[in-house]
Amino acid sequence: MDLGIRGKRALVCASSKGLGRGCAEALAEAGVDLVLNARGVEALEATAAAIRARYQVDVVTVAGDITSEAGRAAVLDKGPFDILVTNAGGPPPGLWSDWGREDFIKALDANMLTPIALMQAVLPGMMAKGWGRVVNITSVSVKAPVAVLGLSNSARAGLTGFVAGTARQVAGKGVTINNLLPGIHATDRAIALDGAVVKARGISMEEAISERSATIPAGRYGTAAEFGAACAFLCSQHAGFIVGQNVLLDGGATNTTL
Ligand code: NAP
Repeated sequence: MDLGIRGKRALVCASSKGLGRGCAEALAEAGVDLVLNARGVEALEATAAAIRARYQVDVVTVAGDITSEAGRAAVLDKGPFDILVTNAGGPPPGLWSDWGREDFIKALDANMLTPIALMQAVLPGMMAKGWGRVVNITSVSVKAPVAVLGLSNSARAGLTGFVAGTARQVAGKGVTINNLLPGIHATDRAIALDGAVVKARGISMEEAISERSATIPAGRYGTAAEFGAACAFLCSQHAGFIVGQNVLLDGGATNTTL
């Protein structure tokens, strides 16, 4: 399918690895020029070089922490953008009793206030042009809380509320905002969470992955490529009537009817 977005320009945050990279690759395959961001320069440049070589699109890199004001200013300086994919690292696991105010502020900054600030920066330009696409990478924890990820449960719920209201205020100008909710995907983040289980329970990594896979009806972890393809579709010309939705990609793991 031709996604109809060849020649558009996208900012994909936190995109040197994992789900962000999956989104960047799928957009590049559709002919979208990219601004990529991550803190680590080496992986960022390697990803940019691989994407340029494979898809022949223009790729600009901005190394920096997207959760900082300076990091956001640096990526926004490379605008304007037709497409925005927000993303950042997820908060650490723990128990509900572990966290104090500073932990919550950090999680809110990364997974709620940063995507909101980025949207506030790019939406006016998209609305003026009469076309824009925003996809926020959130989490399955928005639909069903993950016990050890209380910080994520909290911060992402706040972002979801903001998007629900805002998406309906900008849709009339040709701009859509939607959220993609990853369940377990085979990325460094999943490996880190599995590593915590290995440590806590004294089992092997293979056992941890096999146990977790058994809780997913699809019987496996998702891939960054599958995730990216869903993102690229939400950014396509065909998705203009999909507004303010929370799309779950979890292999059926969340046992709900709707
Ligand atoms: P990942 O494999 O660890 O990749 C994270 C990417 O983001 C890397 O490129 C990393 O590069 C970059 N990054 C992290 N923090 C950043 C920051 N502050 N500023 C700029 N770049 C940053 O993670 P992932 O699995 O793709 O997860 C992406 C998001 O989805 C996370 O918020 C995660 O919590 C959420 N999620 C993932 C899963 C899953 O199963 N994978 C499930 C539910 C939710 P640098 O470290 O070099 O900055």
